Amino acid sequence: KRAGEEEKAVNVQVALRCRPLNKKEQLTGEECVISCNETKKEVKVVASSEKAASTIKKSQTKSFLFDKVFGMEATQEEVYESVCKPIVEEVLNGYNCTVFAYGQTGTGKTHTMEGQRDEKDGLTFDISNTKDLKRKCPPSAGVIPRAIRHIFHYLQDIQAEYTVRVSYLELYNEQLTDLLGIDGNEVDLRIYEDPQKGTFVAGLEEVPVRSEEEIFSILEKSAVKRRTAETLMNKYSSRSHSIFSITIHIKESTPEGEDLLKVGKLNLVDLAGSENIGRSGAQNMRAREAGNINQSLLTLGRVITSLVEHHPHIPYRDSKLTRLLQESLGGRNKTCIIATVCPGVSSLDETLSTLDYACRAKNI
Ligand code: ADP
Ligand code: MG
Repeated sequence: KRAGEEEKAVNVQVALRCRPLNKKEQLTGEECVISCNETKKEVKVVASSEKAASTIKKSQTKSFLFDKVFGMEATQEEVYESVCKPIVEEVLNGYNCTVFAYGQTGTGKTHTMEGQRDEKDGLTFDISNTKDLKRKCPPSAGVIPRAIRHIFHYLQDIQAEYTVRVSYLELYNEQLTDLLGIDGNEVDLRIYEDPQKGTFVAGLEEVPVRSEEEIFSILEKSAVKRRTAETLMNKYSSRSHSIFSITIHIKESTPEGEDLLKVGKLNLVDLAGSENIGRSGAQNMRAREAGNINQSLLTLGRVITSLVEHHPHIPYRDSKLTRLLQESLGGRNKTCIIATVCPGVSSLDETLSTLDYACRAKNI
């Protein structure tokens, strides 16, 4: 344990991102009811027209404050620079950090974490065109490729030996799948706790990455696996959590000539759609009857609330997601939640539920 780790109980930043209306919503005349003020870091529910005013209840016209607010015009680069870059810097200093994307299905969690996808569910940027990638991440690239790029730029400039490894896990119905695994060995992996190693997943593929360009072929490989899962399991993409982890080992020498090993880990988590849990943070009846209890999403909410409220007992052990992330949440480790919403009136109930949840996760 590092000095001062005990005193700092929690380190959670909450950002809110609102996506623009899509083409279909624009065509059907969907009304915008979310207004973002990036300077005031405030999100308000407002009726911009009389038609919208007639559908919004007085009790729904609320406002919420966050640590950061990204409106419809915010770019992928802005989101990375202002919330993720400082976290990657912590990881490069040898800490374990986590970024979560939380929100209703269709609000931009995957867009924020991975980047734009096309109809075929592939990444839109051309992975064969590595010359372009060398110069700059494409504008549509999300947090994962940008973090990798940032890490390699840092490492190439320092006098040290280093290794970068990535893993990509998916959690569906409390079952773990390795998105980078060798065919046949990737399903239903087990979590173990070891006094020396800490928590680990047996058999998990940890792929060494030697350059930033390699990340795009790794993401492509995972997309292929995910497409298979999608066809086999009902509503897979909205019910599964994906956890992309980057582990960095840096061996530096002190001026006295001693070796100093720094190990940092970054978890980038695209959570299951928040419509899978009810407003009160409990599973709603309909979901329960359908057998869709999302133990991990419910437990994550409880873990974050317990950390923020300084409870003596944190229920990490109640779900696979929180067991996996136990060593990266709390203490000196930085956690960031990017909550995503859409601006349309027809999603207002879900949007309010996300805003409430995200507000509760803020530091007090
Ligand atoms: P989720 O992962 O939360 O279900 P997606 O990331 O798949 O949602 O986003 C749904 C759709 O909206 C996608 O077509 C995506 O490209 C688009 N989208 C999401 N966020 C934005 C944004 N900030 N700007 C433009 N398009 C977006
Ligand atoms: Mg998604």
